Amino acid sequence: MTQTDSRVTHLPTGSYYTPSGEYDDLYRRSMEDPEGFWAEQAESLDWFKPWEKVLDWQAPYARWFVGGKLNLSYQCLDRHVQTEVKNKVAFYWEGELGETQVLTYNEMYRLTNNYAAALKRLGVKRGDKVALYLPMIPALPVFMLACARLGAIFTVVFSAFSGQALADRVEDVGAKVIITSSGMHRRGKILPLKENAVEAAVKCPCVEKIVVVKHTGHHTEMDPDRDVWLDDILAGVDEYVAPEAMDANDPLFVLYTSGSTGKPKGILHGTAGYALWIAKTLQWAFNPDQKSVFWCTADIGWITGHSYVVFAPLELGLTSVMYEGAPDFPAIDRWWQLIAKYGVTIFYTSPTAIRMFMRHGEEWPAKYDLSSLKSLGSVGEPINPEAWLWYYRNIGHERISISDTWWQTETGGFMISPTPGIQPHPLKPGSATKPMPGVDVAVLDPDGKELPNGQTGFIVIRKPWPGMLLDIYQNQELYQQTYWSRFPGYYLPGDFCMKDQDNFLWLLGRADEVIKVAGHRISTAELESSIVGHSAVAEAAACSRPDEVKGEAIILFVTLRKGTDPSPEIKAELTRHLRATIGALATPEEIFFVNLLPKTRSGKIMRRLLKAVATGATVGDTSTLDDGASIDEARAAFEELK
Ligand code: ATP
Ligand code: MG
Repeated sequence: MTQTDSRVTHLPTGSYYTPSGEYDDLYRRSMEDPEGFWAEQAESLDWFKPWEKVLDWQAPYARWFVGGKLNLSYQCLDRHVQTEVKNKVAFYWEGELGETQVLTYNEMYRLTNNYAAALKRLGVKRGDKVALYLPMIPALPVFMLACARLGAIFTVVFSAFSGQALADRVEDVGAKVIITSSGMHRRGKILPLKENAVEAAVKCPCVEKIVVVKHTGHHTEMDPDRDVWLDDILAGVDEYVAPEAMDANDPLFVLYTSGSTGKPKGILHGTAGYALWIAKTLQWAFNPDQKSVFWCTADIGWITGHSYVVFAPLELGLTSVMYEGAPDFPAIDRWWQLIAKYGVTIFYTSPTAIRMFMRHGEEWPAKYDLSSLKSLGSVGEPINPEAWLWYYRNIGHERISISDTWWQTETGGFMISPTPGIQPHPLKPGSATKPMPGVDVAVLDPDGKELPNGQTGFIVIRKPWPGMLLDIYQNQELYQQTYWSRFPGYYLPGDFCMKDQDNFLWLLGRADEVIKVAGHRISTAELESSIVGHSAVAEAAACSRPDEVKGEAIILFVTLRKGTDPSPEIKAELTRHLRATIGALATPEEIFFVNLLPKTRSGKIMRRLLKAVATGATVGDTSTLDDGASIDEARAAFEELK
């Protein structure tokens, strides 16, 4: 891991460094007395009935705050409307076409009650399942809150999924109602969501009703027995719906993972532990205050949107920005324009977005006043140091910290991240730094022995934490096998990690994507970081192919920055660059130039597809692939060479 470590010397770490402060104390307490620690933290929630037991841990099932009763919509709304937060802005919403809406806490409260009343009239009650297939419009968080209020279990399906992908999820959860909109705007086009919802309803006998939010103006056929307009069921009533007293461990939602490594898994999250975990981790990682304007760019269809667009900011009474459209519509500066317009103070996005902006050049953000920003964040994939530095310089202007947050759908909220809300760590581009309080991390070798600092292995979490998933929905066997069978008693995220000499953690991609070359293990993240460090490269994906001599041979798929065209010279140059930055073992067998890398719809590179192309295997589940053309392109590049 010399390459990763050597980058550290470039770093602007000094100004953030406060040695041995509060973080160490808080972390130590969370490890020495987890139950005492979490009992204290849980005072920040409003309980209808206090818990009897902080933790019931019967591995691999953790149940937090047993006996306690609460409601997440109450945490997010009711308790704020009793204070001065009532008239504060909860969301500044902007549509792709430029239309805007400003929603205060009081308006969110009123809408949530009315939507809950409407759902109740449709027969939705506690324990029922509801599928939400909506674009990034205010109705989506409102329906999530309304479901939470009624105790109905919701599953949000990302709006860019097809009717079939929706049907798979609707059927798996057994949804009684699908809530959708007439359509959505994307890069100037209208996508027909309602038609996809009908396709799913026809395929899934569990579906009784489709509720349609009027969003785009186009015509949609309504089945009088099955389909209702939201406006009609709201029917002018203003109603209070008492929040259900939910059990601390009652299920809140099912959310399907991104499908980067295989078929998406239906992750089941609970109420109290999840609510506490996301609020605390947002506070710790981003240090918001009551004047913050928070913008998490994730779609609500992913866990990042659930936890950090909807629930955690509302629990903390923050103001958020929510944007419906594409980052490059009408032009690549749309996001920077929005930051300047709303005075965003905390901006949280993904490496894939940052690399896209890098590809287009720093002149775009340079046109805007980004001085309102106080904190930046990244999530979704390892952020390579080059992208980190670009973000730090061109968006943060070298004056604010970046919280690289490592976590998963399964973890509910951040697990490893800088914690300026407790005490700022020094930063190292590409490292997610330290675990959150309560997160007991170790790096193990394949036999389960803890590795010394500097060596790469499997990251495991040795203690349950409040945001931990309850289960995989209706699949306990898969739950136990995926996360708990390899190292019994420890949660296995499936990522590779290295703890450096300063105890900083480097997340290095999927453990099953590690490449073994001539007896050496090299992570895809390390190879990609190195090659993206070359000024001609915008993005890269590494994978491998079996090789008789070396065990595995490295294959790279590369997209170039504007201004460089593929050529044998650039290929040779990139090979030299890899050898110089990592070593001879990083010599790729082949470099393919493509325009697009295959990604999940949440923006993660799907290396397993590239590997399938490079080895001539079948590609497997592609239901979450963003753009089918990208895999065809890789295949064509590969065929051409043969
Ligand atoms: P599936 O589980 O279906 O393969 P997925 O793991 O991509 O899909 P998510 O839960 O959305 O679905 O993603 C979690 C994964 O994303 C992590 O396991 C990790 O590999 C990666 N990840 C997220 N944030 C970071 C980060 N800050 N640094 C490195 N990797 C990250
Ligand atoms: Mg995963």
